[in-house]
Amino acid sequence: METRALRVRLYPTGSQKELLEKHFGANRFIWNYFLQKRTEYYAESKARGKAQGMNYFRTTKLLTLLKEEKEWLYEISSQSLQQTLRKLDNAFTAFFRKNSSYPVFRSKKGKQYFVTPQGAKCNEYRLFIPKFMEGIRFRDKHQIPEEINQVIVTKEVDRYYASIMYESDDHHAKGKEQIGIDMGLKQFATLSNGIQIENPRLINKFESRIKRQQKKMSRKRRGSNNRKKNIIRLQKLYQHLTDARADFMHKVSTAIAKLSDTIVMEDLNIQGMMQNHHLAKGIGDVSWYRFKRMLEYKAEWRGIEFIEIGMFDASSRVCSRCGWYKRDLKLSDRVFHCNACGLIIDRDLNAAINIRNMGLIKVGRGTPELTPVEIATSAELFNRGGLRDAGQ
Ligand SMILES: [Zn+2]
Repeated sequence: METRALRVRLYPTGSQKELLEKHFGANRFIWNYFLQKRTEYYAESKARGKAQGMNYFRTTKLLTLLKEEKEWLYEISSQSLQQTLRKLDNAFTAFFRKNSSYPVFRSKKGKQYFVTPQGAKCNEYRLFIPKFMEGIRFRDKHQIPEEINQVIVTKEVDRYYASIMYESDDHHAKGKEQIGIDMGLKQFATLSNGIQIENPRLINKFESRIKRQQKKMSRKRRGSNNRKKNIIRLQKLYQHLTDARADFMHKVSTAIAKLSDTIVMEDLNIQGMMQNHHLAKGIGDVSWYRFKRMLEYKAEWRGIEFIEIGMFDASSRVCSRCGWYKRDLKLSDRVFHCNACGLIIDRDLNAAINIRNMGLIKVGRGTPELTPVEIATSAELFNRGGLRDAGQ
């Protein structure tokens, strides 16, 4: 693993620009305020005969108190403010070690920047940092960091940039797999190597809460205060749900990308869904599209082949071992019994293997040797994919 940096130009909206400016201003304010405090403290201790600096933890405590006084600081990502205190502390340490001169005040005319030390994510279009949860648009063609260490946002004249620091291991390890993915309703996804990924409980929890709130709201009078409160509660729940989903899908897609050298997925088009068994899975489940896009760009980023095949009804009806076509497969059949070769296999796993084989045939790589696989747990995927703390 090595740390790398990717610099992208940001295209914030009008209101995002305002909030970015507030971040520059607040971090400059905090730097100057605590530089002043530390200077006074240093002078006083010197006058008492023992020159010493104020420590970092003291400044974080003072910051908490300062926020009570200056409420506008709550608008600012607290991590970025703490990072400024850190940098100031480093500047003082360097000064005391005689490595550099005394820290100076920051000016409006100087370099404008703030640092987000953690909690940043990005997809192919947007950078998500604390307080900018809807994401700031950026343009970049190829490299999308998956795990970000820190982000430095800067302003140069009237342009905004982000330097994204991330860990990367570029070498493609040997022994990676060709993976077909069947998206499901019962399972979030089934992989052709036997791994099944369940929908996280957290998401189900939010979904049932949303249903409850919707029911409650339907009983309330239009325009009433209770109804307004209900609407706000609902909006918050939707936000939580969206965040939890995105987080889950990011983790799963990263784990899959790490263990694959080829990924095959069906083309998840609405038309296809309406014509076949995927109808039951819920038309227009946009999170599937997002998941596929995530996998697509993560594959591209890692140099993994991503193959898309047309959606075909046969993916669940054909025996993945001998090719026999099961005409009478019902939606309720969770297990596929092959009348020709006797294979008994989980329905979704059978589909995932067929999807993988179709993909490989499509690009002229033939059918891999079929080996019976056991159903593993998603825990195994997470271990093999190097995914930490996956269980939501
Ligand atoms: Zn068979």
